[in-house]
Amino acid sequence: MTDSNSFSDSLLNPKEFTITYELVPGQGSGGKRVDGLLEFARQAGEDGRIKALSITDNPGGNPALAPVAIGSEIQQIGIEPLIHFSMKDKNRNQIFSHVYLYQRLGIRSLLVLGGDFPSPGYYGQARPVFDLDTIQALRLMDDLESGRYPAKAKKKELLTGESLFKGCVVSPFKTTESEQVWQYVKLLHKVRAGADFIVSQLGYDLRKFSELITFIRKKSIDLPVLANVFIPSLPVAKFMATGRVPGVLISKKLIQQMEDEQASGNKQARLDRGAAMIAQLKKVGFQGVHLGGNNLNFSDIGYMLDRVADHEKQQGEPAKEGYDFPIRNSWYLYPIHASGTMPQAKRLQPGTIPGSAPVHALSHDLLFTERLVTGRIFAKFCLFCEGKKYRTSLLTWLERFIKRLLFNCRMCGECTLEQAGYLCSQSGCPKRLVNGPCGGSRKGFCEVFPDRLCFWVRVYGRLDRKTGLITLIERTPLPPKNWALQKTSSWINHFRRESCLNSKGKVRAKE
Ligand code: SF4
Repeated sequence: MTDSNSFSDSLLNPKEFTITYELVPGQGSGGKRVDGLLEFARQAGEDGRIKALSITDNPGGNPALAPVAIGSEIQQIGIEPLIHFSMKDKNRNQIFSHVYLYQRLGIRSLLVLGGDFPSPGYYGQARPVFDLDTIQALRLMDDLESGRYPAKAKKKELLTGESLFKGCVVSPFKTTESEQVWQYVKLLHKVRAGADFIVSQLGYDLRKFSELITFIRKKSIDLPVLANVFIPSLPVAKFMATGRVPGVLISKKLIQQMEDEQASGNKQARLDRGAAMIAQLKKVGFQGVHLGGNNLNFSDIGYMLDRVADHEKQQGEPAKEGYDFPIRNSWYLYPIHASGTMPQAKRLQPGTIPGSAPVHALSHDLLFTERLVTGRIFAKFCLFCEGKKYRTSLLTWLERFIKRLLFNCRMCGECTLEQAGYLCSQSGCPKRLVNGPCGGSRKGFCEVFPDRLCFWVRVYGRLDRKTGLITLIERTPLPPKNWALQKTSSWINHFRRESCLNSKGKVRAKE
């Protein structure tokens, strides 16, 4: 990242506290909703306190006006668009073409996220894409910008605009150990893959917010972080409490408080709560806030931002009961809160049974370690079958039979069982992620199938407690799958790539 814009200038300036606001386009190219968003942008541009307006990308897995449409209009208004760049509807070619599109339009701030699973719509549910995960997409953009890919391309000819300013998302609000640890592991990988800034998931637990800042400092991550402050109306808060918004948890205490506020006719209460939260998050160490909400116009946001200044002028801290709503029995990464007063919550960790993983690990080592005689024999056998039609078919059939029986394998041709605790991510995770979970799980259960444990919670349960976490942090994330290998033998593919033997069982000449 080298060039600048009002958003990146503000976010990278340690003296500034950056404010962004999320706009949510719906279905259709115009109408009241679009007019409302543009009016909000106009007023925000005149006011000047909001440095970027983020625009969602098919929110909730539903079709909506493409964010680039609103993005280029608000750019004309003079406010920086922050485009949500989700993986649910794009394959890698679309990712490239969207990067070129944004470059062409001079839009450079992107928030790279996985996105919600598609919802039922036209003739049923759309096919979920998730060709790349967020780590891989950030890596793709970094490879493109640094000239690492395409290898022969001249970077200047491909990328004619300003460099990208890429954000990533993390949830510090997971309630179980496995989900929370995964979120932080993935954050580290996203940062290594080239993220320029971080935005948190929305939540209302102050201790979880401070944990994110503590983690970032402990890991010496030198990137700015925006805290997500969402201001729901009571009906929306109640809807969120039902668990139907992926990855979002809301406590009963907050709902109760909002009901009391409604009963007393206090219409500004949610804005006052938002202001108290923002003031507090500033103290915690966030470089800014990413605001959102429903049924809010710009004067509501203006009022709330004025109230932040009032809170800051006040002596002492506002009563925590007003803005801090932890979820009961949440697991925390750090045993003691920065204030030194809060004990570690009880561990809530479903799916911690290692299962048959040790047996599979042993078989894997025997078959795929070429230092061992068994590994060399197996490599020779697979390479002997390579390229010969009947032998290849027979081996592929054998692999399918064994692995379907043991792992419900989908024959992707690039086996990642070893990296996923000997569970198949292609059949186990509806988004077919290979580098850890999405942010949509809830209390350990899957966003798409709420009656099943999240696949990656099960993987975490199979980790070796002593070395597993270090392995997760240190290992290089898996690259995108090569779809040309679908339904082929991953055994042959593995040895073709990795083996030092050639198909005649002789040691390969060095290339
Ligand atoms: S299994 Fe986990 S990572 Fe996969 S879609 Fe469900 S919640 Fe997301």
